Amino acid sequence: MEDKENSKTLNKENTKEYEEICYVCHKPESEVGELIHMPGGLNVCKGCTQNAFDSFKNSGMQISDLMKMSDGLPPMSFLDLESITDDSNKRKIKKRKTKEEREEEKKNFDLKSIPAPHKIKEQLDEHVVGQEKAKKMLSVAVYNHYKRVFSDSSDGVEIEKSNVLMIGPTGSGKTYLVKTLAKLLDVPLAIADATALTEAGYIGDDIESVISKLLVAADNDVERAEHGIVFIDEIDKIAKKKETRTRDVSGESVQQELLKLLEGSVVEVPVGGSSKNMMVPTTSVDTNNILFICGGAFPDLEEIIKERLTETSSIGFGSELKDRFDGRENLIREVTIDDLRAFGMIPEFLGRLPVIMTLDVLSEDYMINILTKPKNAIIKQYKKLLKMDGVELEFEEEALRVIARKALEKHTGARALRAIIEEYMQDIMFEIPKDESIAKVTVTADFLENHGGPVIEFK
Ligand code: ADP
Repeated sequence: MEDKENSKTLNKENTKEYEEICYVCHKPESEVGELIHMPGGLNVCKGCTQNAFDSFKNSGMQISDLMKMSDGLPPMSFLDLESITDDSNKRKIKKRKTKEEREEEKKNFDLKSIPAPHKIKEQLDEHVVGQEKAKKMLSVAVYNHYKRVFSDSSDGVEIEKSNVLMIGPTGSGKTYLVKTLAKLLDVPLAIADATALTEAGYIGDDIESVISKLLVAADNDVERAEHGIVFIDEIDKIAKKKETRTRDVSGESVQQELLKLLEGSVVEVPVGGSSKNMMVPTTSVDTNNILFICGGAFPDLEEIIKERLTETSSIGFGSELKDRFDGRENLIREVTIDDLRAFGMIPEFLGRLPVIMTLDVLSEDYMINILTKPKNAIIKQYKKLLKMDGVELEFEEEALRVIARKALEKHTGARALRAIIEEYMQDIMFEIPKDESIAKVTVTADFLENHGGPVIEFK
């Protein structure tokens, strides 16, 4: 009984916090004005009520006719209005804040709450190994982005958006960097895959779904979403095809459609779902202060860079210079806008991503550091797990090298590390707790290469 009462009060509080929505046009009250409350909690805006009334009047029908219309249809009184309106908070939009509330929030979320670039980098360093240049550029770009958000443009100087393009091989930490960043800044983050996006009207997610995801991450709080971060992965997959005889649905046109989001515009997005349909309410979100980070592996981009470098440096000398750039590490760092255009990104799109950063290919040493150095490193996690059984876990340096080498063979960057280590740790995690006299387990290279078991020391 008490529980019921509690939940009632909670629900009441929830309704205070969320906006009510017109069940005909699905717009929130902040856009359509005061709603008319019908029986069963059904709310309809004045505009829709007027429209319904007008078309009813034009049809020449009388109210009494409507009540009699039971052939094939349930009479009005049979309609279960509760079931139509029984929506979860997922589909509700948080109320826009009053001016005072906004001022109060501004006090909490202002430039002072955004750490300076060197502080952002310090925090990124705790989690992300290496990628020094990218971490530095990202810290500055984010800091500048929020400076722009909080800047006053009354002096006529408007700071331009600093959306980011991140180029780096699979598993080099692009997504991880962005996730870490959003967490440390405490802003909502949406991760979308460019390959799933299609032009409006085609099967797949339309462009607005990206913002819809951000809204979900922001707990349906439009204002919080409006200063969040959107990461669009696999952006290289929407490059313009070199030869297109048919209409290019997935590539160039998706780049075109993304332009409006990147530069900042007000878009109508479905709440709590990725598709716009009759039953999903929509709301408008301004993307002007949303930071967009696009990431991709851009395979073959190195070839384009190599070709350009060869061309510019070989005037008169011809082919002996051709192989000069073969095997050069991290050639990707030399990328220019022209290379990206040659890859198939359209100039307008690139123009809206002014910060271009590249991530290094992960080497063996890099991999070992990823295994051991970050705050939440995999090896640290296993050590902690075994410590709870009173057992010390040790990895020989050579064993770490074996794991790193095996991961490199998979060509999926650091992503392969966990799966490899998990495979070997399975037996250890299963056997060790059986014997309470075990004090220490050392994982050796021999064990990993299937020559015997790990070294076990007893108490
Ligand atoms: P991608 O570049 O393909 O987006 P991810 O960011 O998803 O790669 O990386 C996969 C995983 O590998 C991450 O979850 C993280 O655990 C690990 N990882 C990758 N690069 C690094 C790095 N530089 N430092 C620490 N961990 C990393």
